[in-house]
Amino acid sequence: MSAERALGALRSIASFIHSRYRLRFTRREQLEAWQARQLRHFLRDVLPRAGRFQGRAITDLASLPLMDKATLMGDFAGFNSCGLSLEEVLPIARQAEASRDFSPTLGDITVGLSSGTSGNQGVFLVSSEERQRWAGILLAKTLPRHLLPRLLTPWRPALRIAFYLRANSRLYTTLSSRRIDFGFYDLTLGLEPSLARLEAHAPDVLVAPATVLRGLAEAALAGRLSIRPSHILSVAEVLEAEDAEAVRSAFGVAPQQIYQASEGFLGYTCERGTLHLNECHLHIEPEWLDAGRTRFQPIITDFSRRTQMIVRYRLNDVLRVAEAPCACGRVERAIAAIEGRADDILWLPDLPGRQLLALYPDVLRRTLLMHGAALQEYEIHQRGLAWQVNLRAASDHDDACLALGDSLRALCAQLGVRPPALGFGHWQPAPPEAKRRRLKLLELPEGLPCTY
Ligand SMILES: [Zn+2]
Repeated sequence: MSAERALGALRSIASFIHSRYRLRFTRREQLEAWQARQLRHFLRDVLPRAGRFQGRAITDLASLPLMDKATLMGDFAGFNSCGLSLEEVLPIARQAEASRDFSPTLGDITVGLSSGTSGNQGVFLVSSEERQRWAGILLAKTLPRHLLPRLLTPWRPALRIAFYLRANSRLYTTLSSRRIDFGFYDLTLGLEPSLARLEAHAPDVLVAPATVLRGLAEAALAGRLSIRPSHILSVAEVLEAEDAEAVRSAFGVAPQQIYQASEGFLGYTCERGTLHLNECHLHIEPEWLDAGRTRFQPIITDFSRRTQMIVRYRLNDVLRVAEAPCACGRVERAIAAIEGRADDILWLPDLPGRQLLALYPDVLRRTLLMHGAALQEYEIHQRGLAWQVNLRAASDHDDACLALGDSLRALCAQLGVRPPALGFGHWQPAPPEAKRRRLKLLELPEGLPCTY
């Protein structure tokens, strides 16, 4: 092992230990005090290294403007401490996507593309130090106790992790080491061709988007796959109750979730199955969407980054808070669900026609779930006052459309909104590398204000 690799491994181990055993707060005030210290240092010593913040004396996070993907991409060089421009880094990212070889870096820096429709794709920069820390933190937060000996005992077989993703990244291969046998499964190649390799790999840990876990569970239930992972993590998509159930019955373990985006490692499920925000490593302000403070969009500040500045960055996700604190005792905010992206919320006018009211993804999902197995797949796209509903029914398609129309109208009546003009069609599967998005707001109804 070269000195550099050994140093990298040490860094991962140090963050692992720090994150797992030191950063355990039993009181919210302790966590906030730790965050405040980290933020002070970040604002004073780190942030001014990026062109956009140079020469500014910043002491208060709240005094900084909000940013999002568009802000970041609009002033790319200004937001990183290396002064790298989009023109310099984009060819590397595009080349990696095209060749499916995700190893090239720019010096020490890994360039990643966020998934997203072309046109609003984000570009993210991570240094090797940040990568190594990330690997340590991710394992610290997500690895269950029973797998720890596999990681730490040199004479036992290395821990086998299978990772299904749209695109690999140096970020993920950083996990690979003498103690971790890391396998990347390229989703653009499809699920079916991967089964033989997965079977031979026999992973202890399986990480994949929810729809892929579902597909693997179905392959296992059909007897075409016999892996026995003891830990299963869902990433990148909303994990629906039915997916979780299919995984549990196929593999005998309930899937946990990692809430990871290009913007950072945002959350993880604890041993009680509750999703917690990763507030030991990120400052997360809630931007409340409703007066009752049940849902918010997270505004994140990553005080541990040194290369690209993610400061008061508004994510497009809608999170629903848990009603009670988690019994595990962690003080990091508990989330009942990642409901989806902000544009998964559909909008309809109230009865007087004065304002638009939100129909949240989980409310719609619950209504549709009541149709049970009769409804195998669905998606709803809203354009103005019209909803296009595409579905795949277990038996008669027309009957299913009628039943679904009735329950959507009943839901509208219950919520006090005017029902949309409904159009029905046949559901078509998306390519395997596409993210599942059942609900999509393509165009808001015109002329009315939105009231959450
Ligand atoms: Zn918990």
